[in-house]
Amino acid sequence: AAHASEPAKRVLLAKPRGYCAGVDRAVQAVELALAHYGAPVYVRKQIVHNAYVVRTLEAAGAVFVEETDEVPEGAVVVFSAHGVAPEVHAEAATRNLKTIDATCPLVTKVHHEARRFAAEDYDIVLIGHDGHEEVVGTTGEAPDHVRLVDGPADVAAVSVRDPERVVWLSQTTLSVDETMQTVDALREKFPSLQSPPSDDICYATQNRQAAVKAIAPQTDLFLVVGSQNSSNSVRMVEVAKAAGARAAYLVDDVHAVSPEWLSGVTTVGLSSGASVPEILVREVAGWLAERGYGEPEEVAHTEERLTFALPQELRRDLKLSA
Ligand code: SF4
Repeated sequence: AAHASEPAKRVLLAKPRGYCAGVDRAVQAVELALAHYGAPVYVRKQIVHNAYVVRTLEAAGAVFVEETDEVPEGAVVVFSAHGVAPEVHAEAATRNLKTIDATCPLVTKVHHEARRFAAEDYDIVLIGHDGHEEVVGTTGEAPDHVRLVDGPADVAAVSVRDPERVVWLSQTTLSVDETMQTVDALREKFPSLQSPPSDDICYATQNRQAAVKAIAPQTDLFLVVGSQNSSNSVRMVEVAKAAGARAAYLVDDVHAVSPEWLSGVTTVGLSSGASVPEILVREVAGWLAERGYGEPEEVAHTEERLTFALPQELRRDLKLSA
């Protein structure tokens, strides 16, 4: 028999979402540093781009600073997951700081690529967002060789010394699709353009975007939990919109969700950026359940099993084996 009733409201929860291996490692590094050396432990820049994580670590005794010159001589300082330029290590050494480098190994990999191509005198077209900490750090490996390109619109203006010796590298947290458009435009301009030896956009960024893309066409509203300064989280919102979600918003936590967004909405897509603790997603899911959307149905796109060993300075001091 036909029902006149409305279709059931539901929430599709993307998997994978939330913490990646690099964020998990960086947050643990600060927690273990606090436990081992005692507060205060200084952290240069936000350890990961998430407001809740920063507040929680601050409450536990972490002190966030912008630059190493704000750290007292001899103190412990953790470098964030986004990486630092070599000069930051040098400054820290002159100030006698005890450094723990929580740079994600997948960012370090891009630093290595930048150094290697610069040593071979390539010009490096770095695709990334101007001013983002990761871009500042990677550029610092080879400032004379790097040309920053922030999307396809920048390609026309980029110039290199020798179009036969050009390679592109990228920030780890970009939109996969937009980056490919940028690369196509670059290749038209520089037909000999070389590609990075392996993907610079990291597995976590790629998997979270793919999981959003798979669900978004079925959704009327897509909510991505994440902070405004989190590149990978912002990209997930763009991906949801491009893949067919009627509306998509980035929310720091449940307090940022607006009840008006639910008007006429049957299916809500839900995910979170790579720097977002699961509790924040649970709170949004609970808020939706209270409004008739039921328990979320998880839609798995890929399984992630990668983990990274803790920074070596910590492993040594904590006497952990590699
Ligand atoms: Fe590393 Fe990717 Fe996570 Fe960034 S988003 S910390 S590059 S795994």
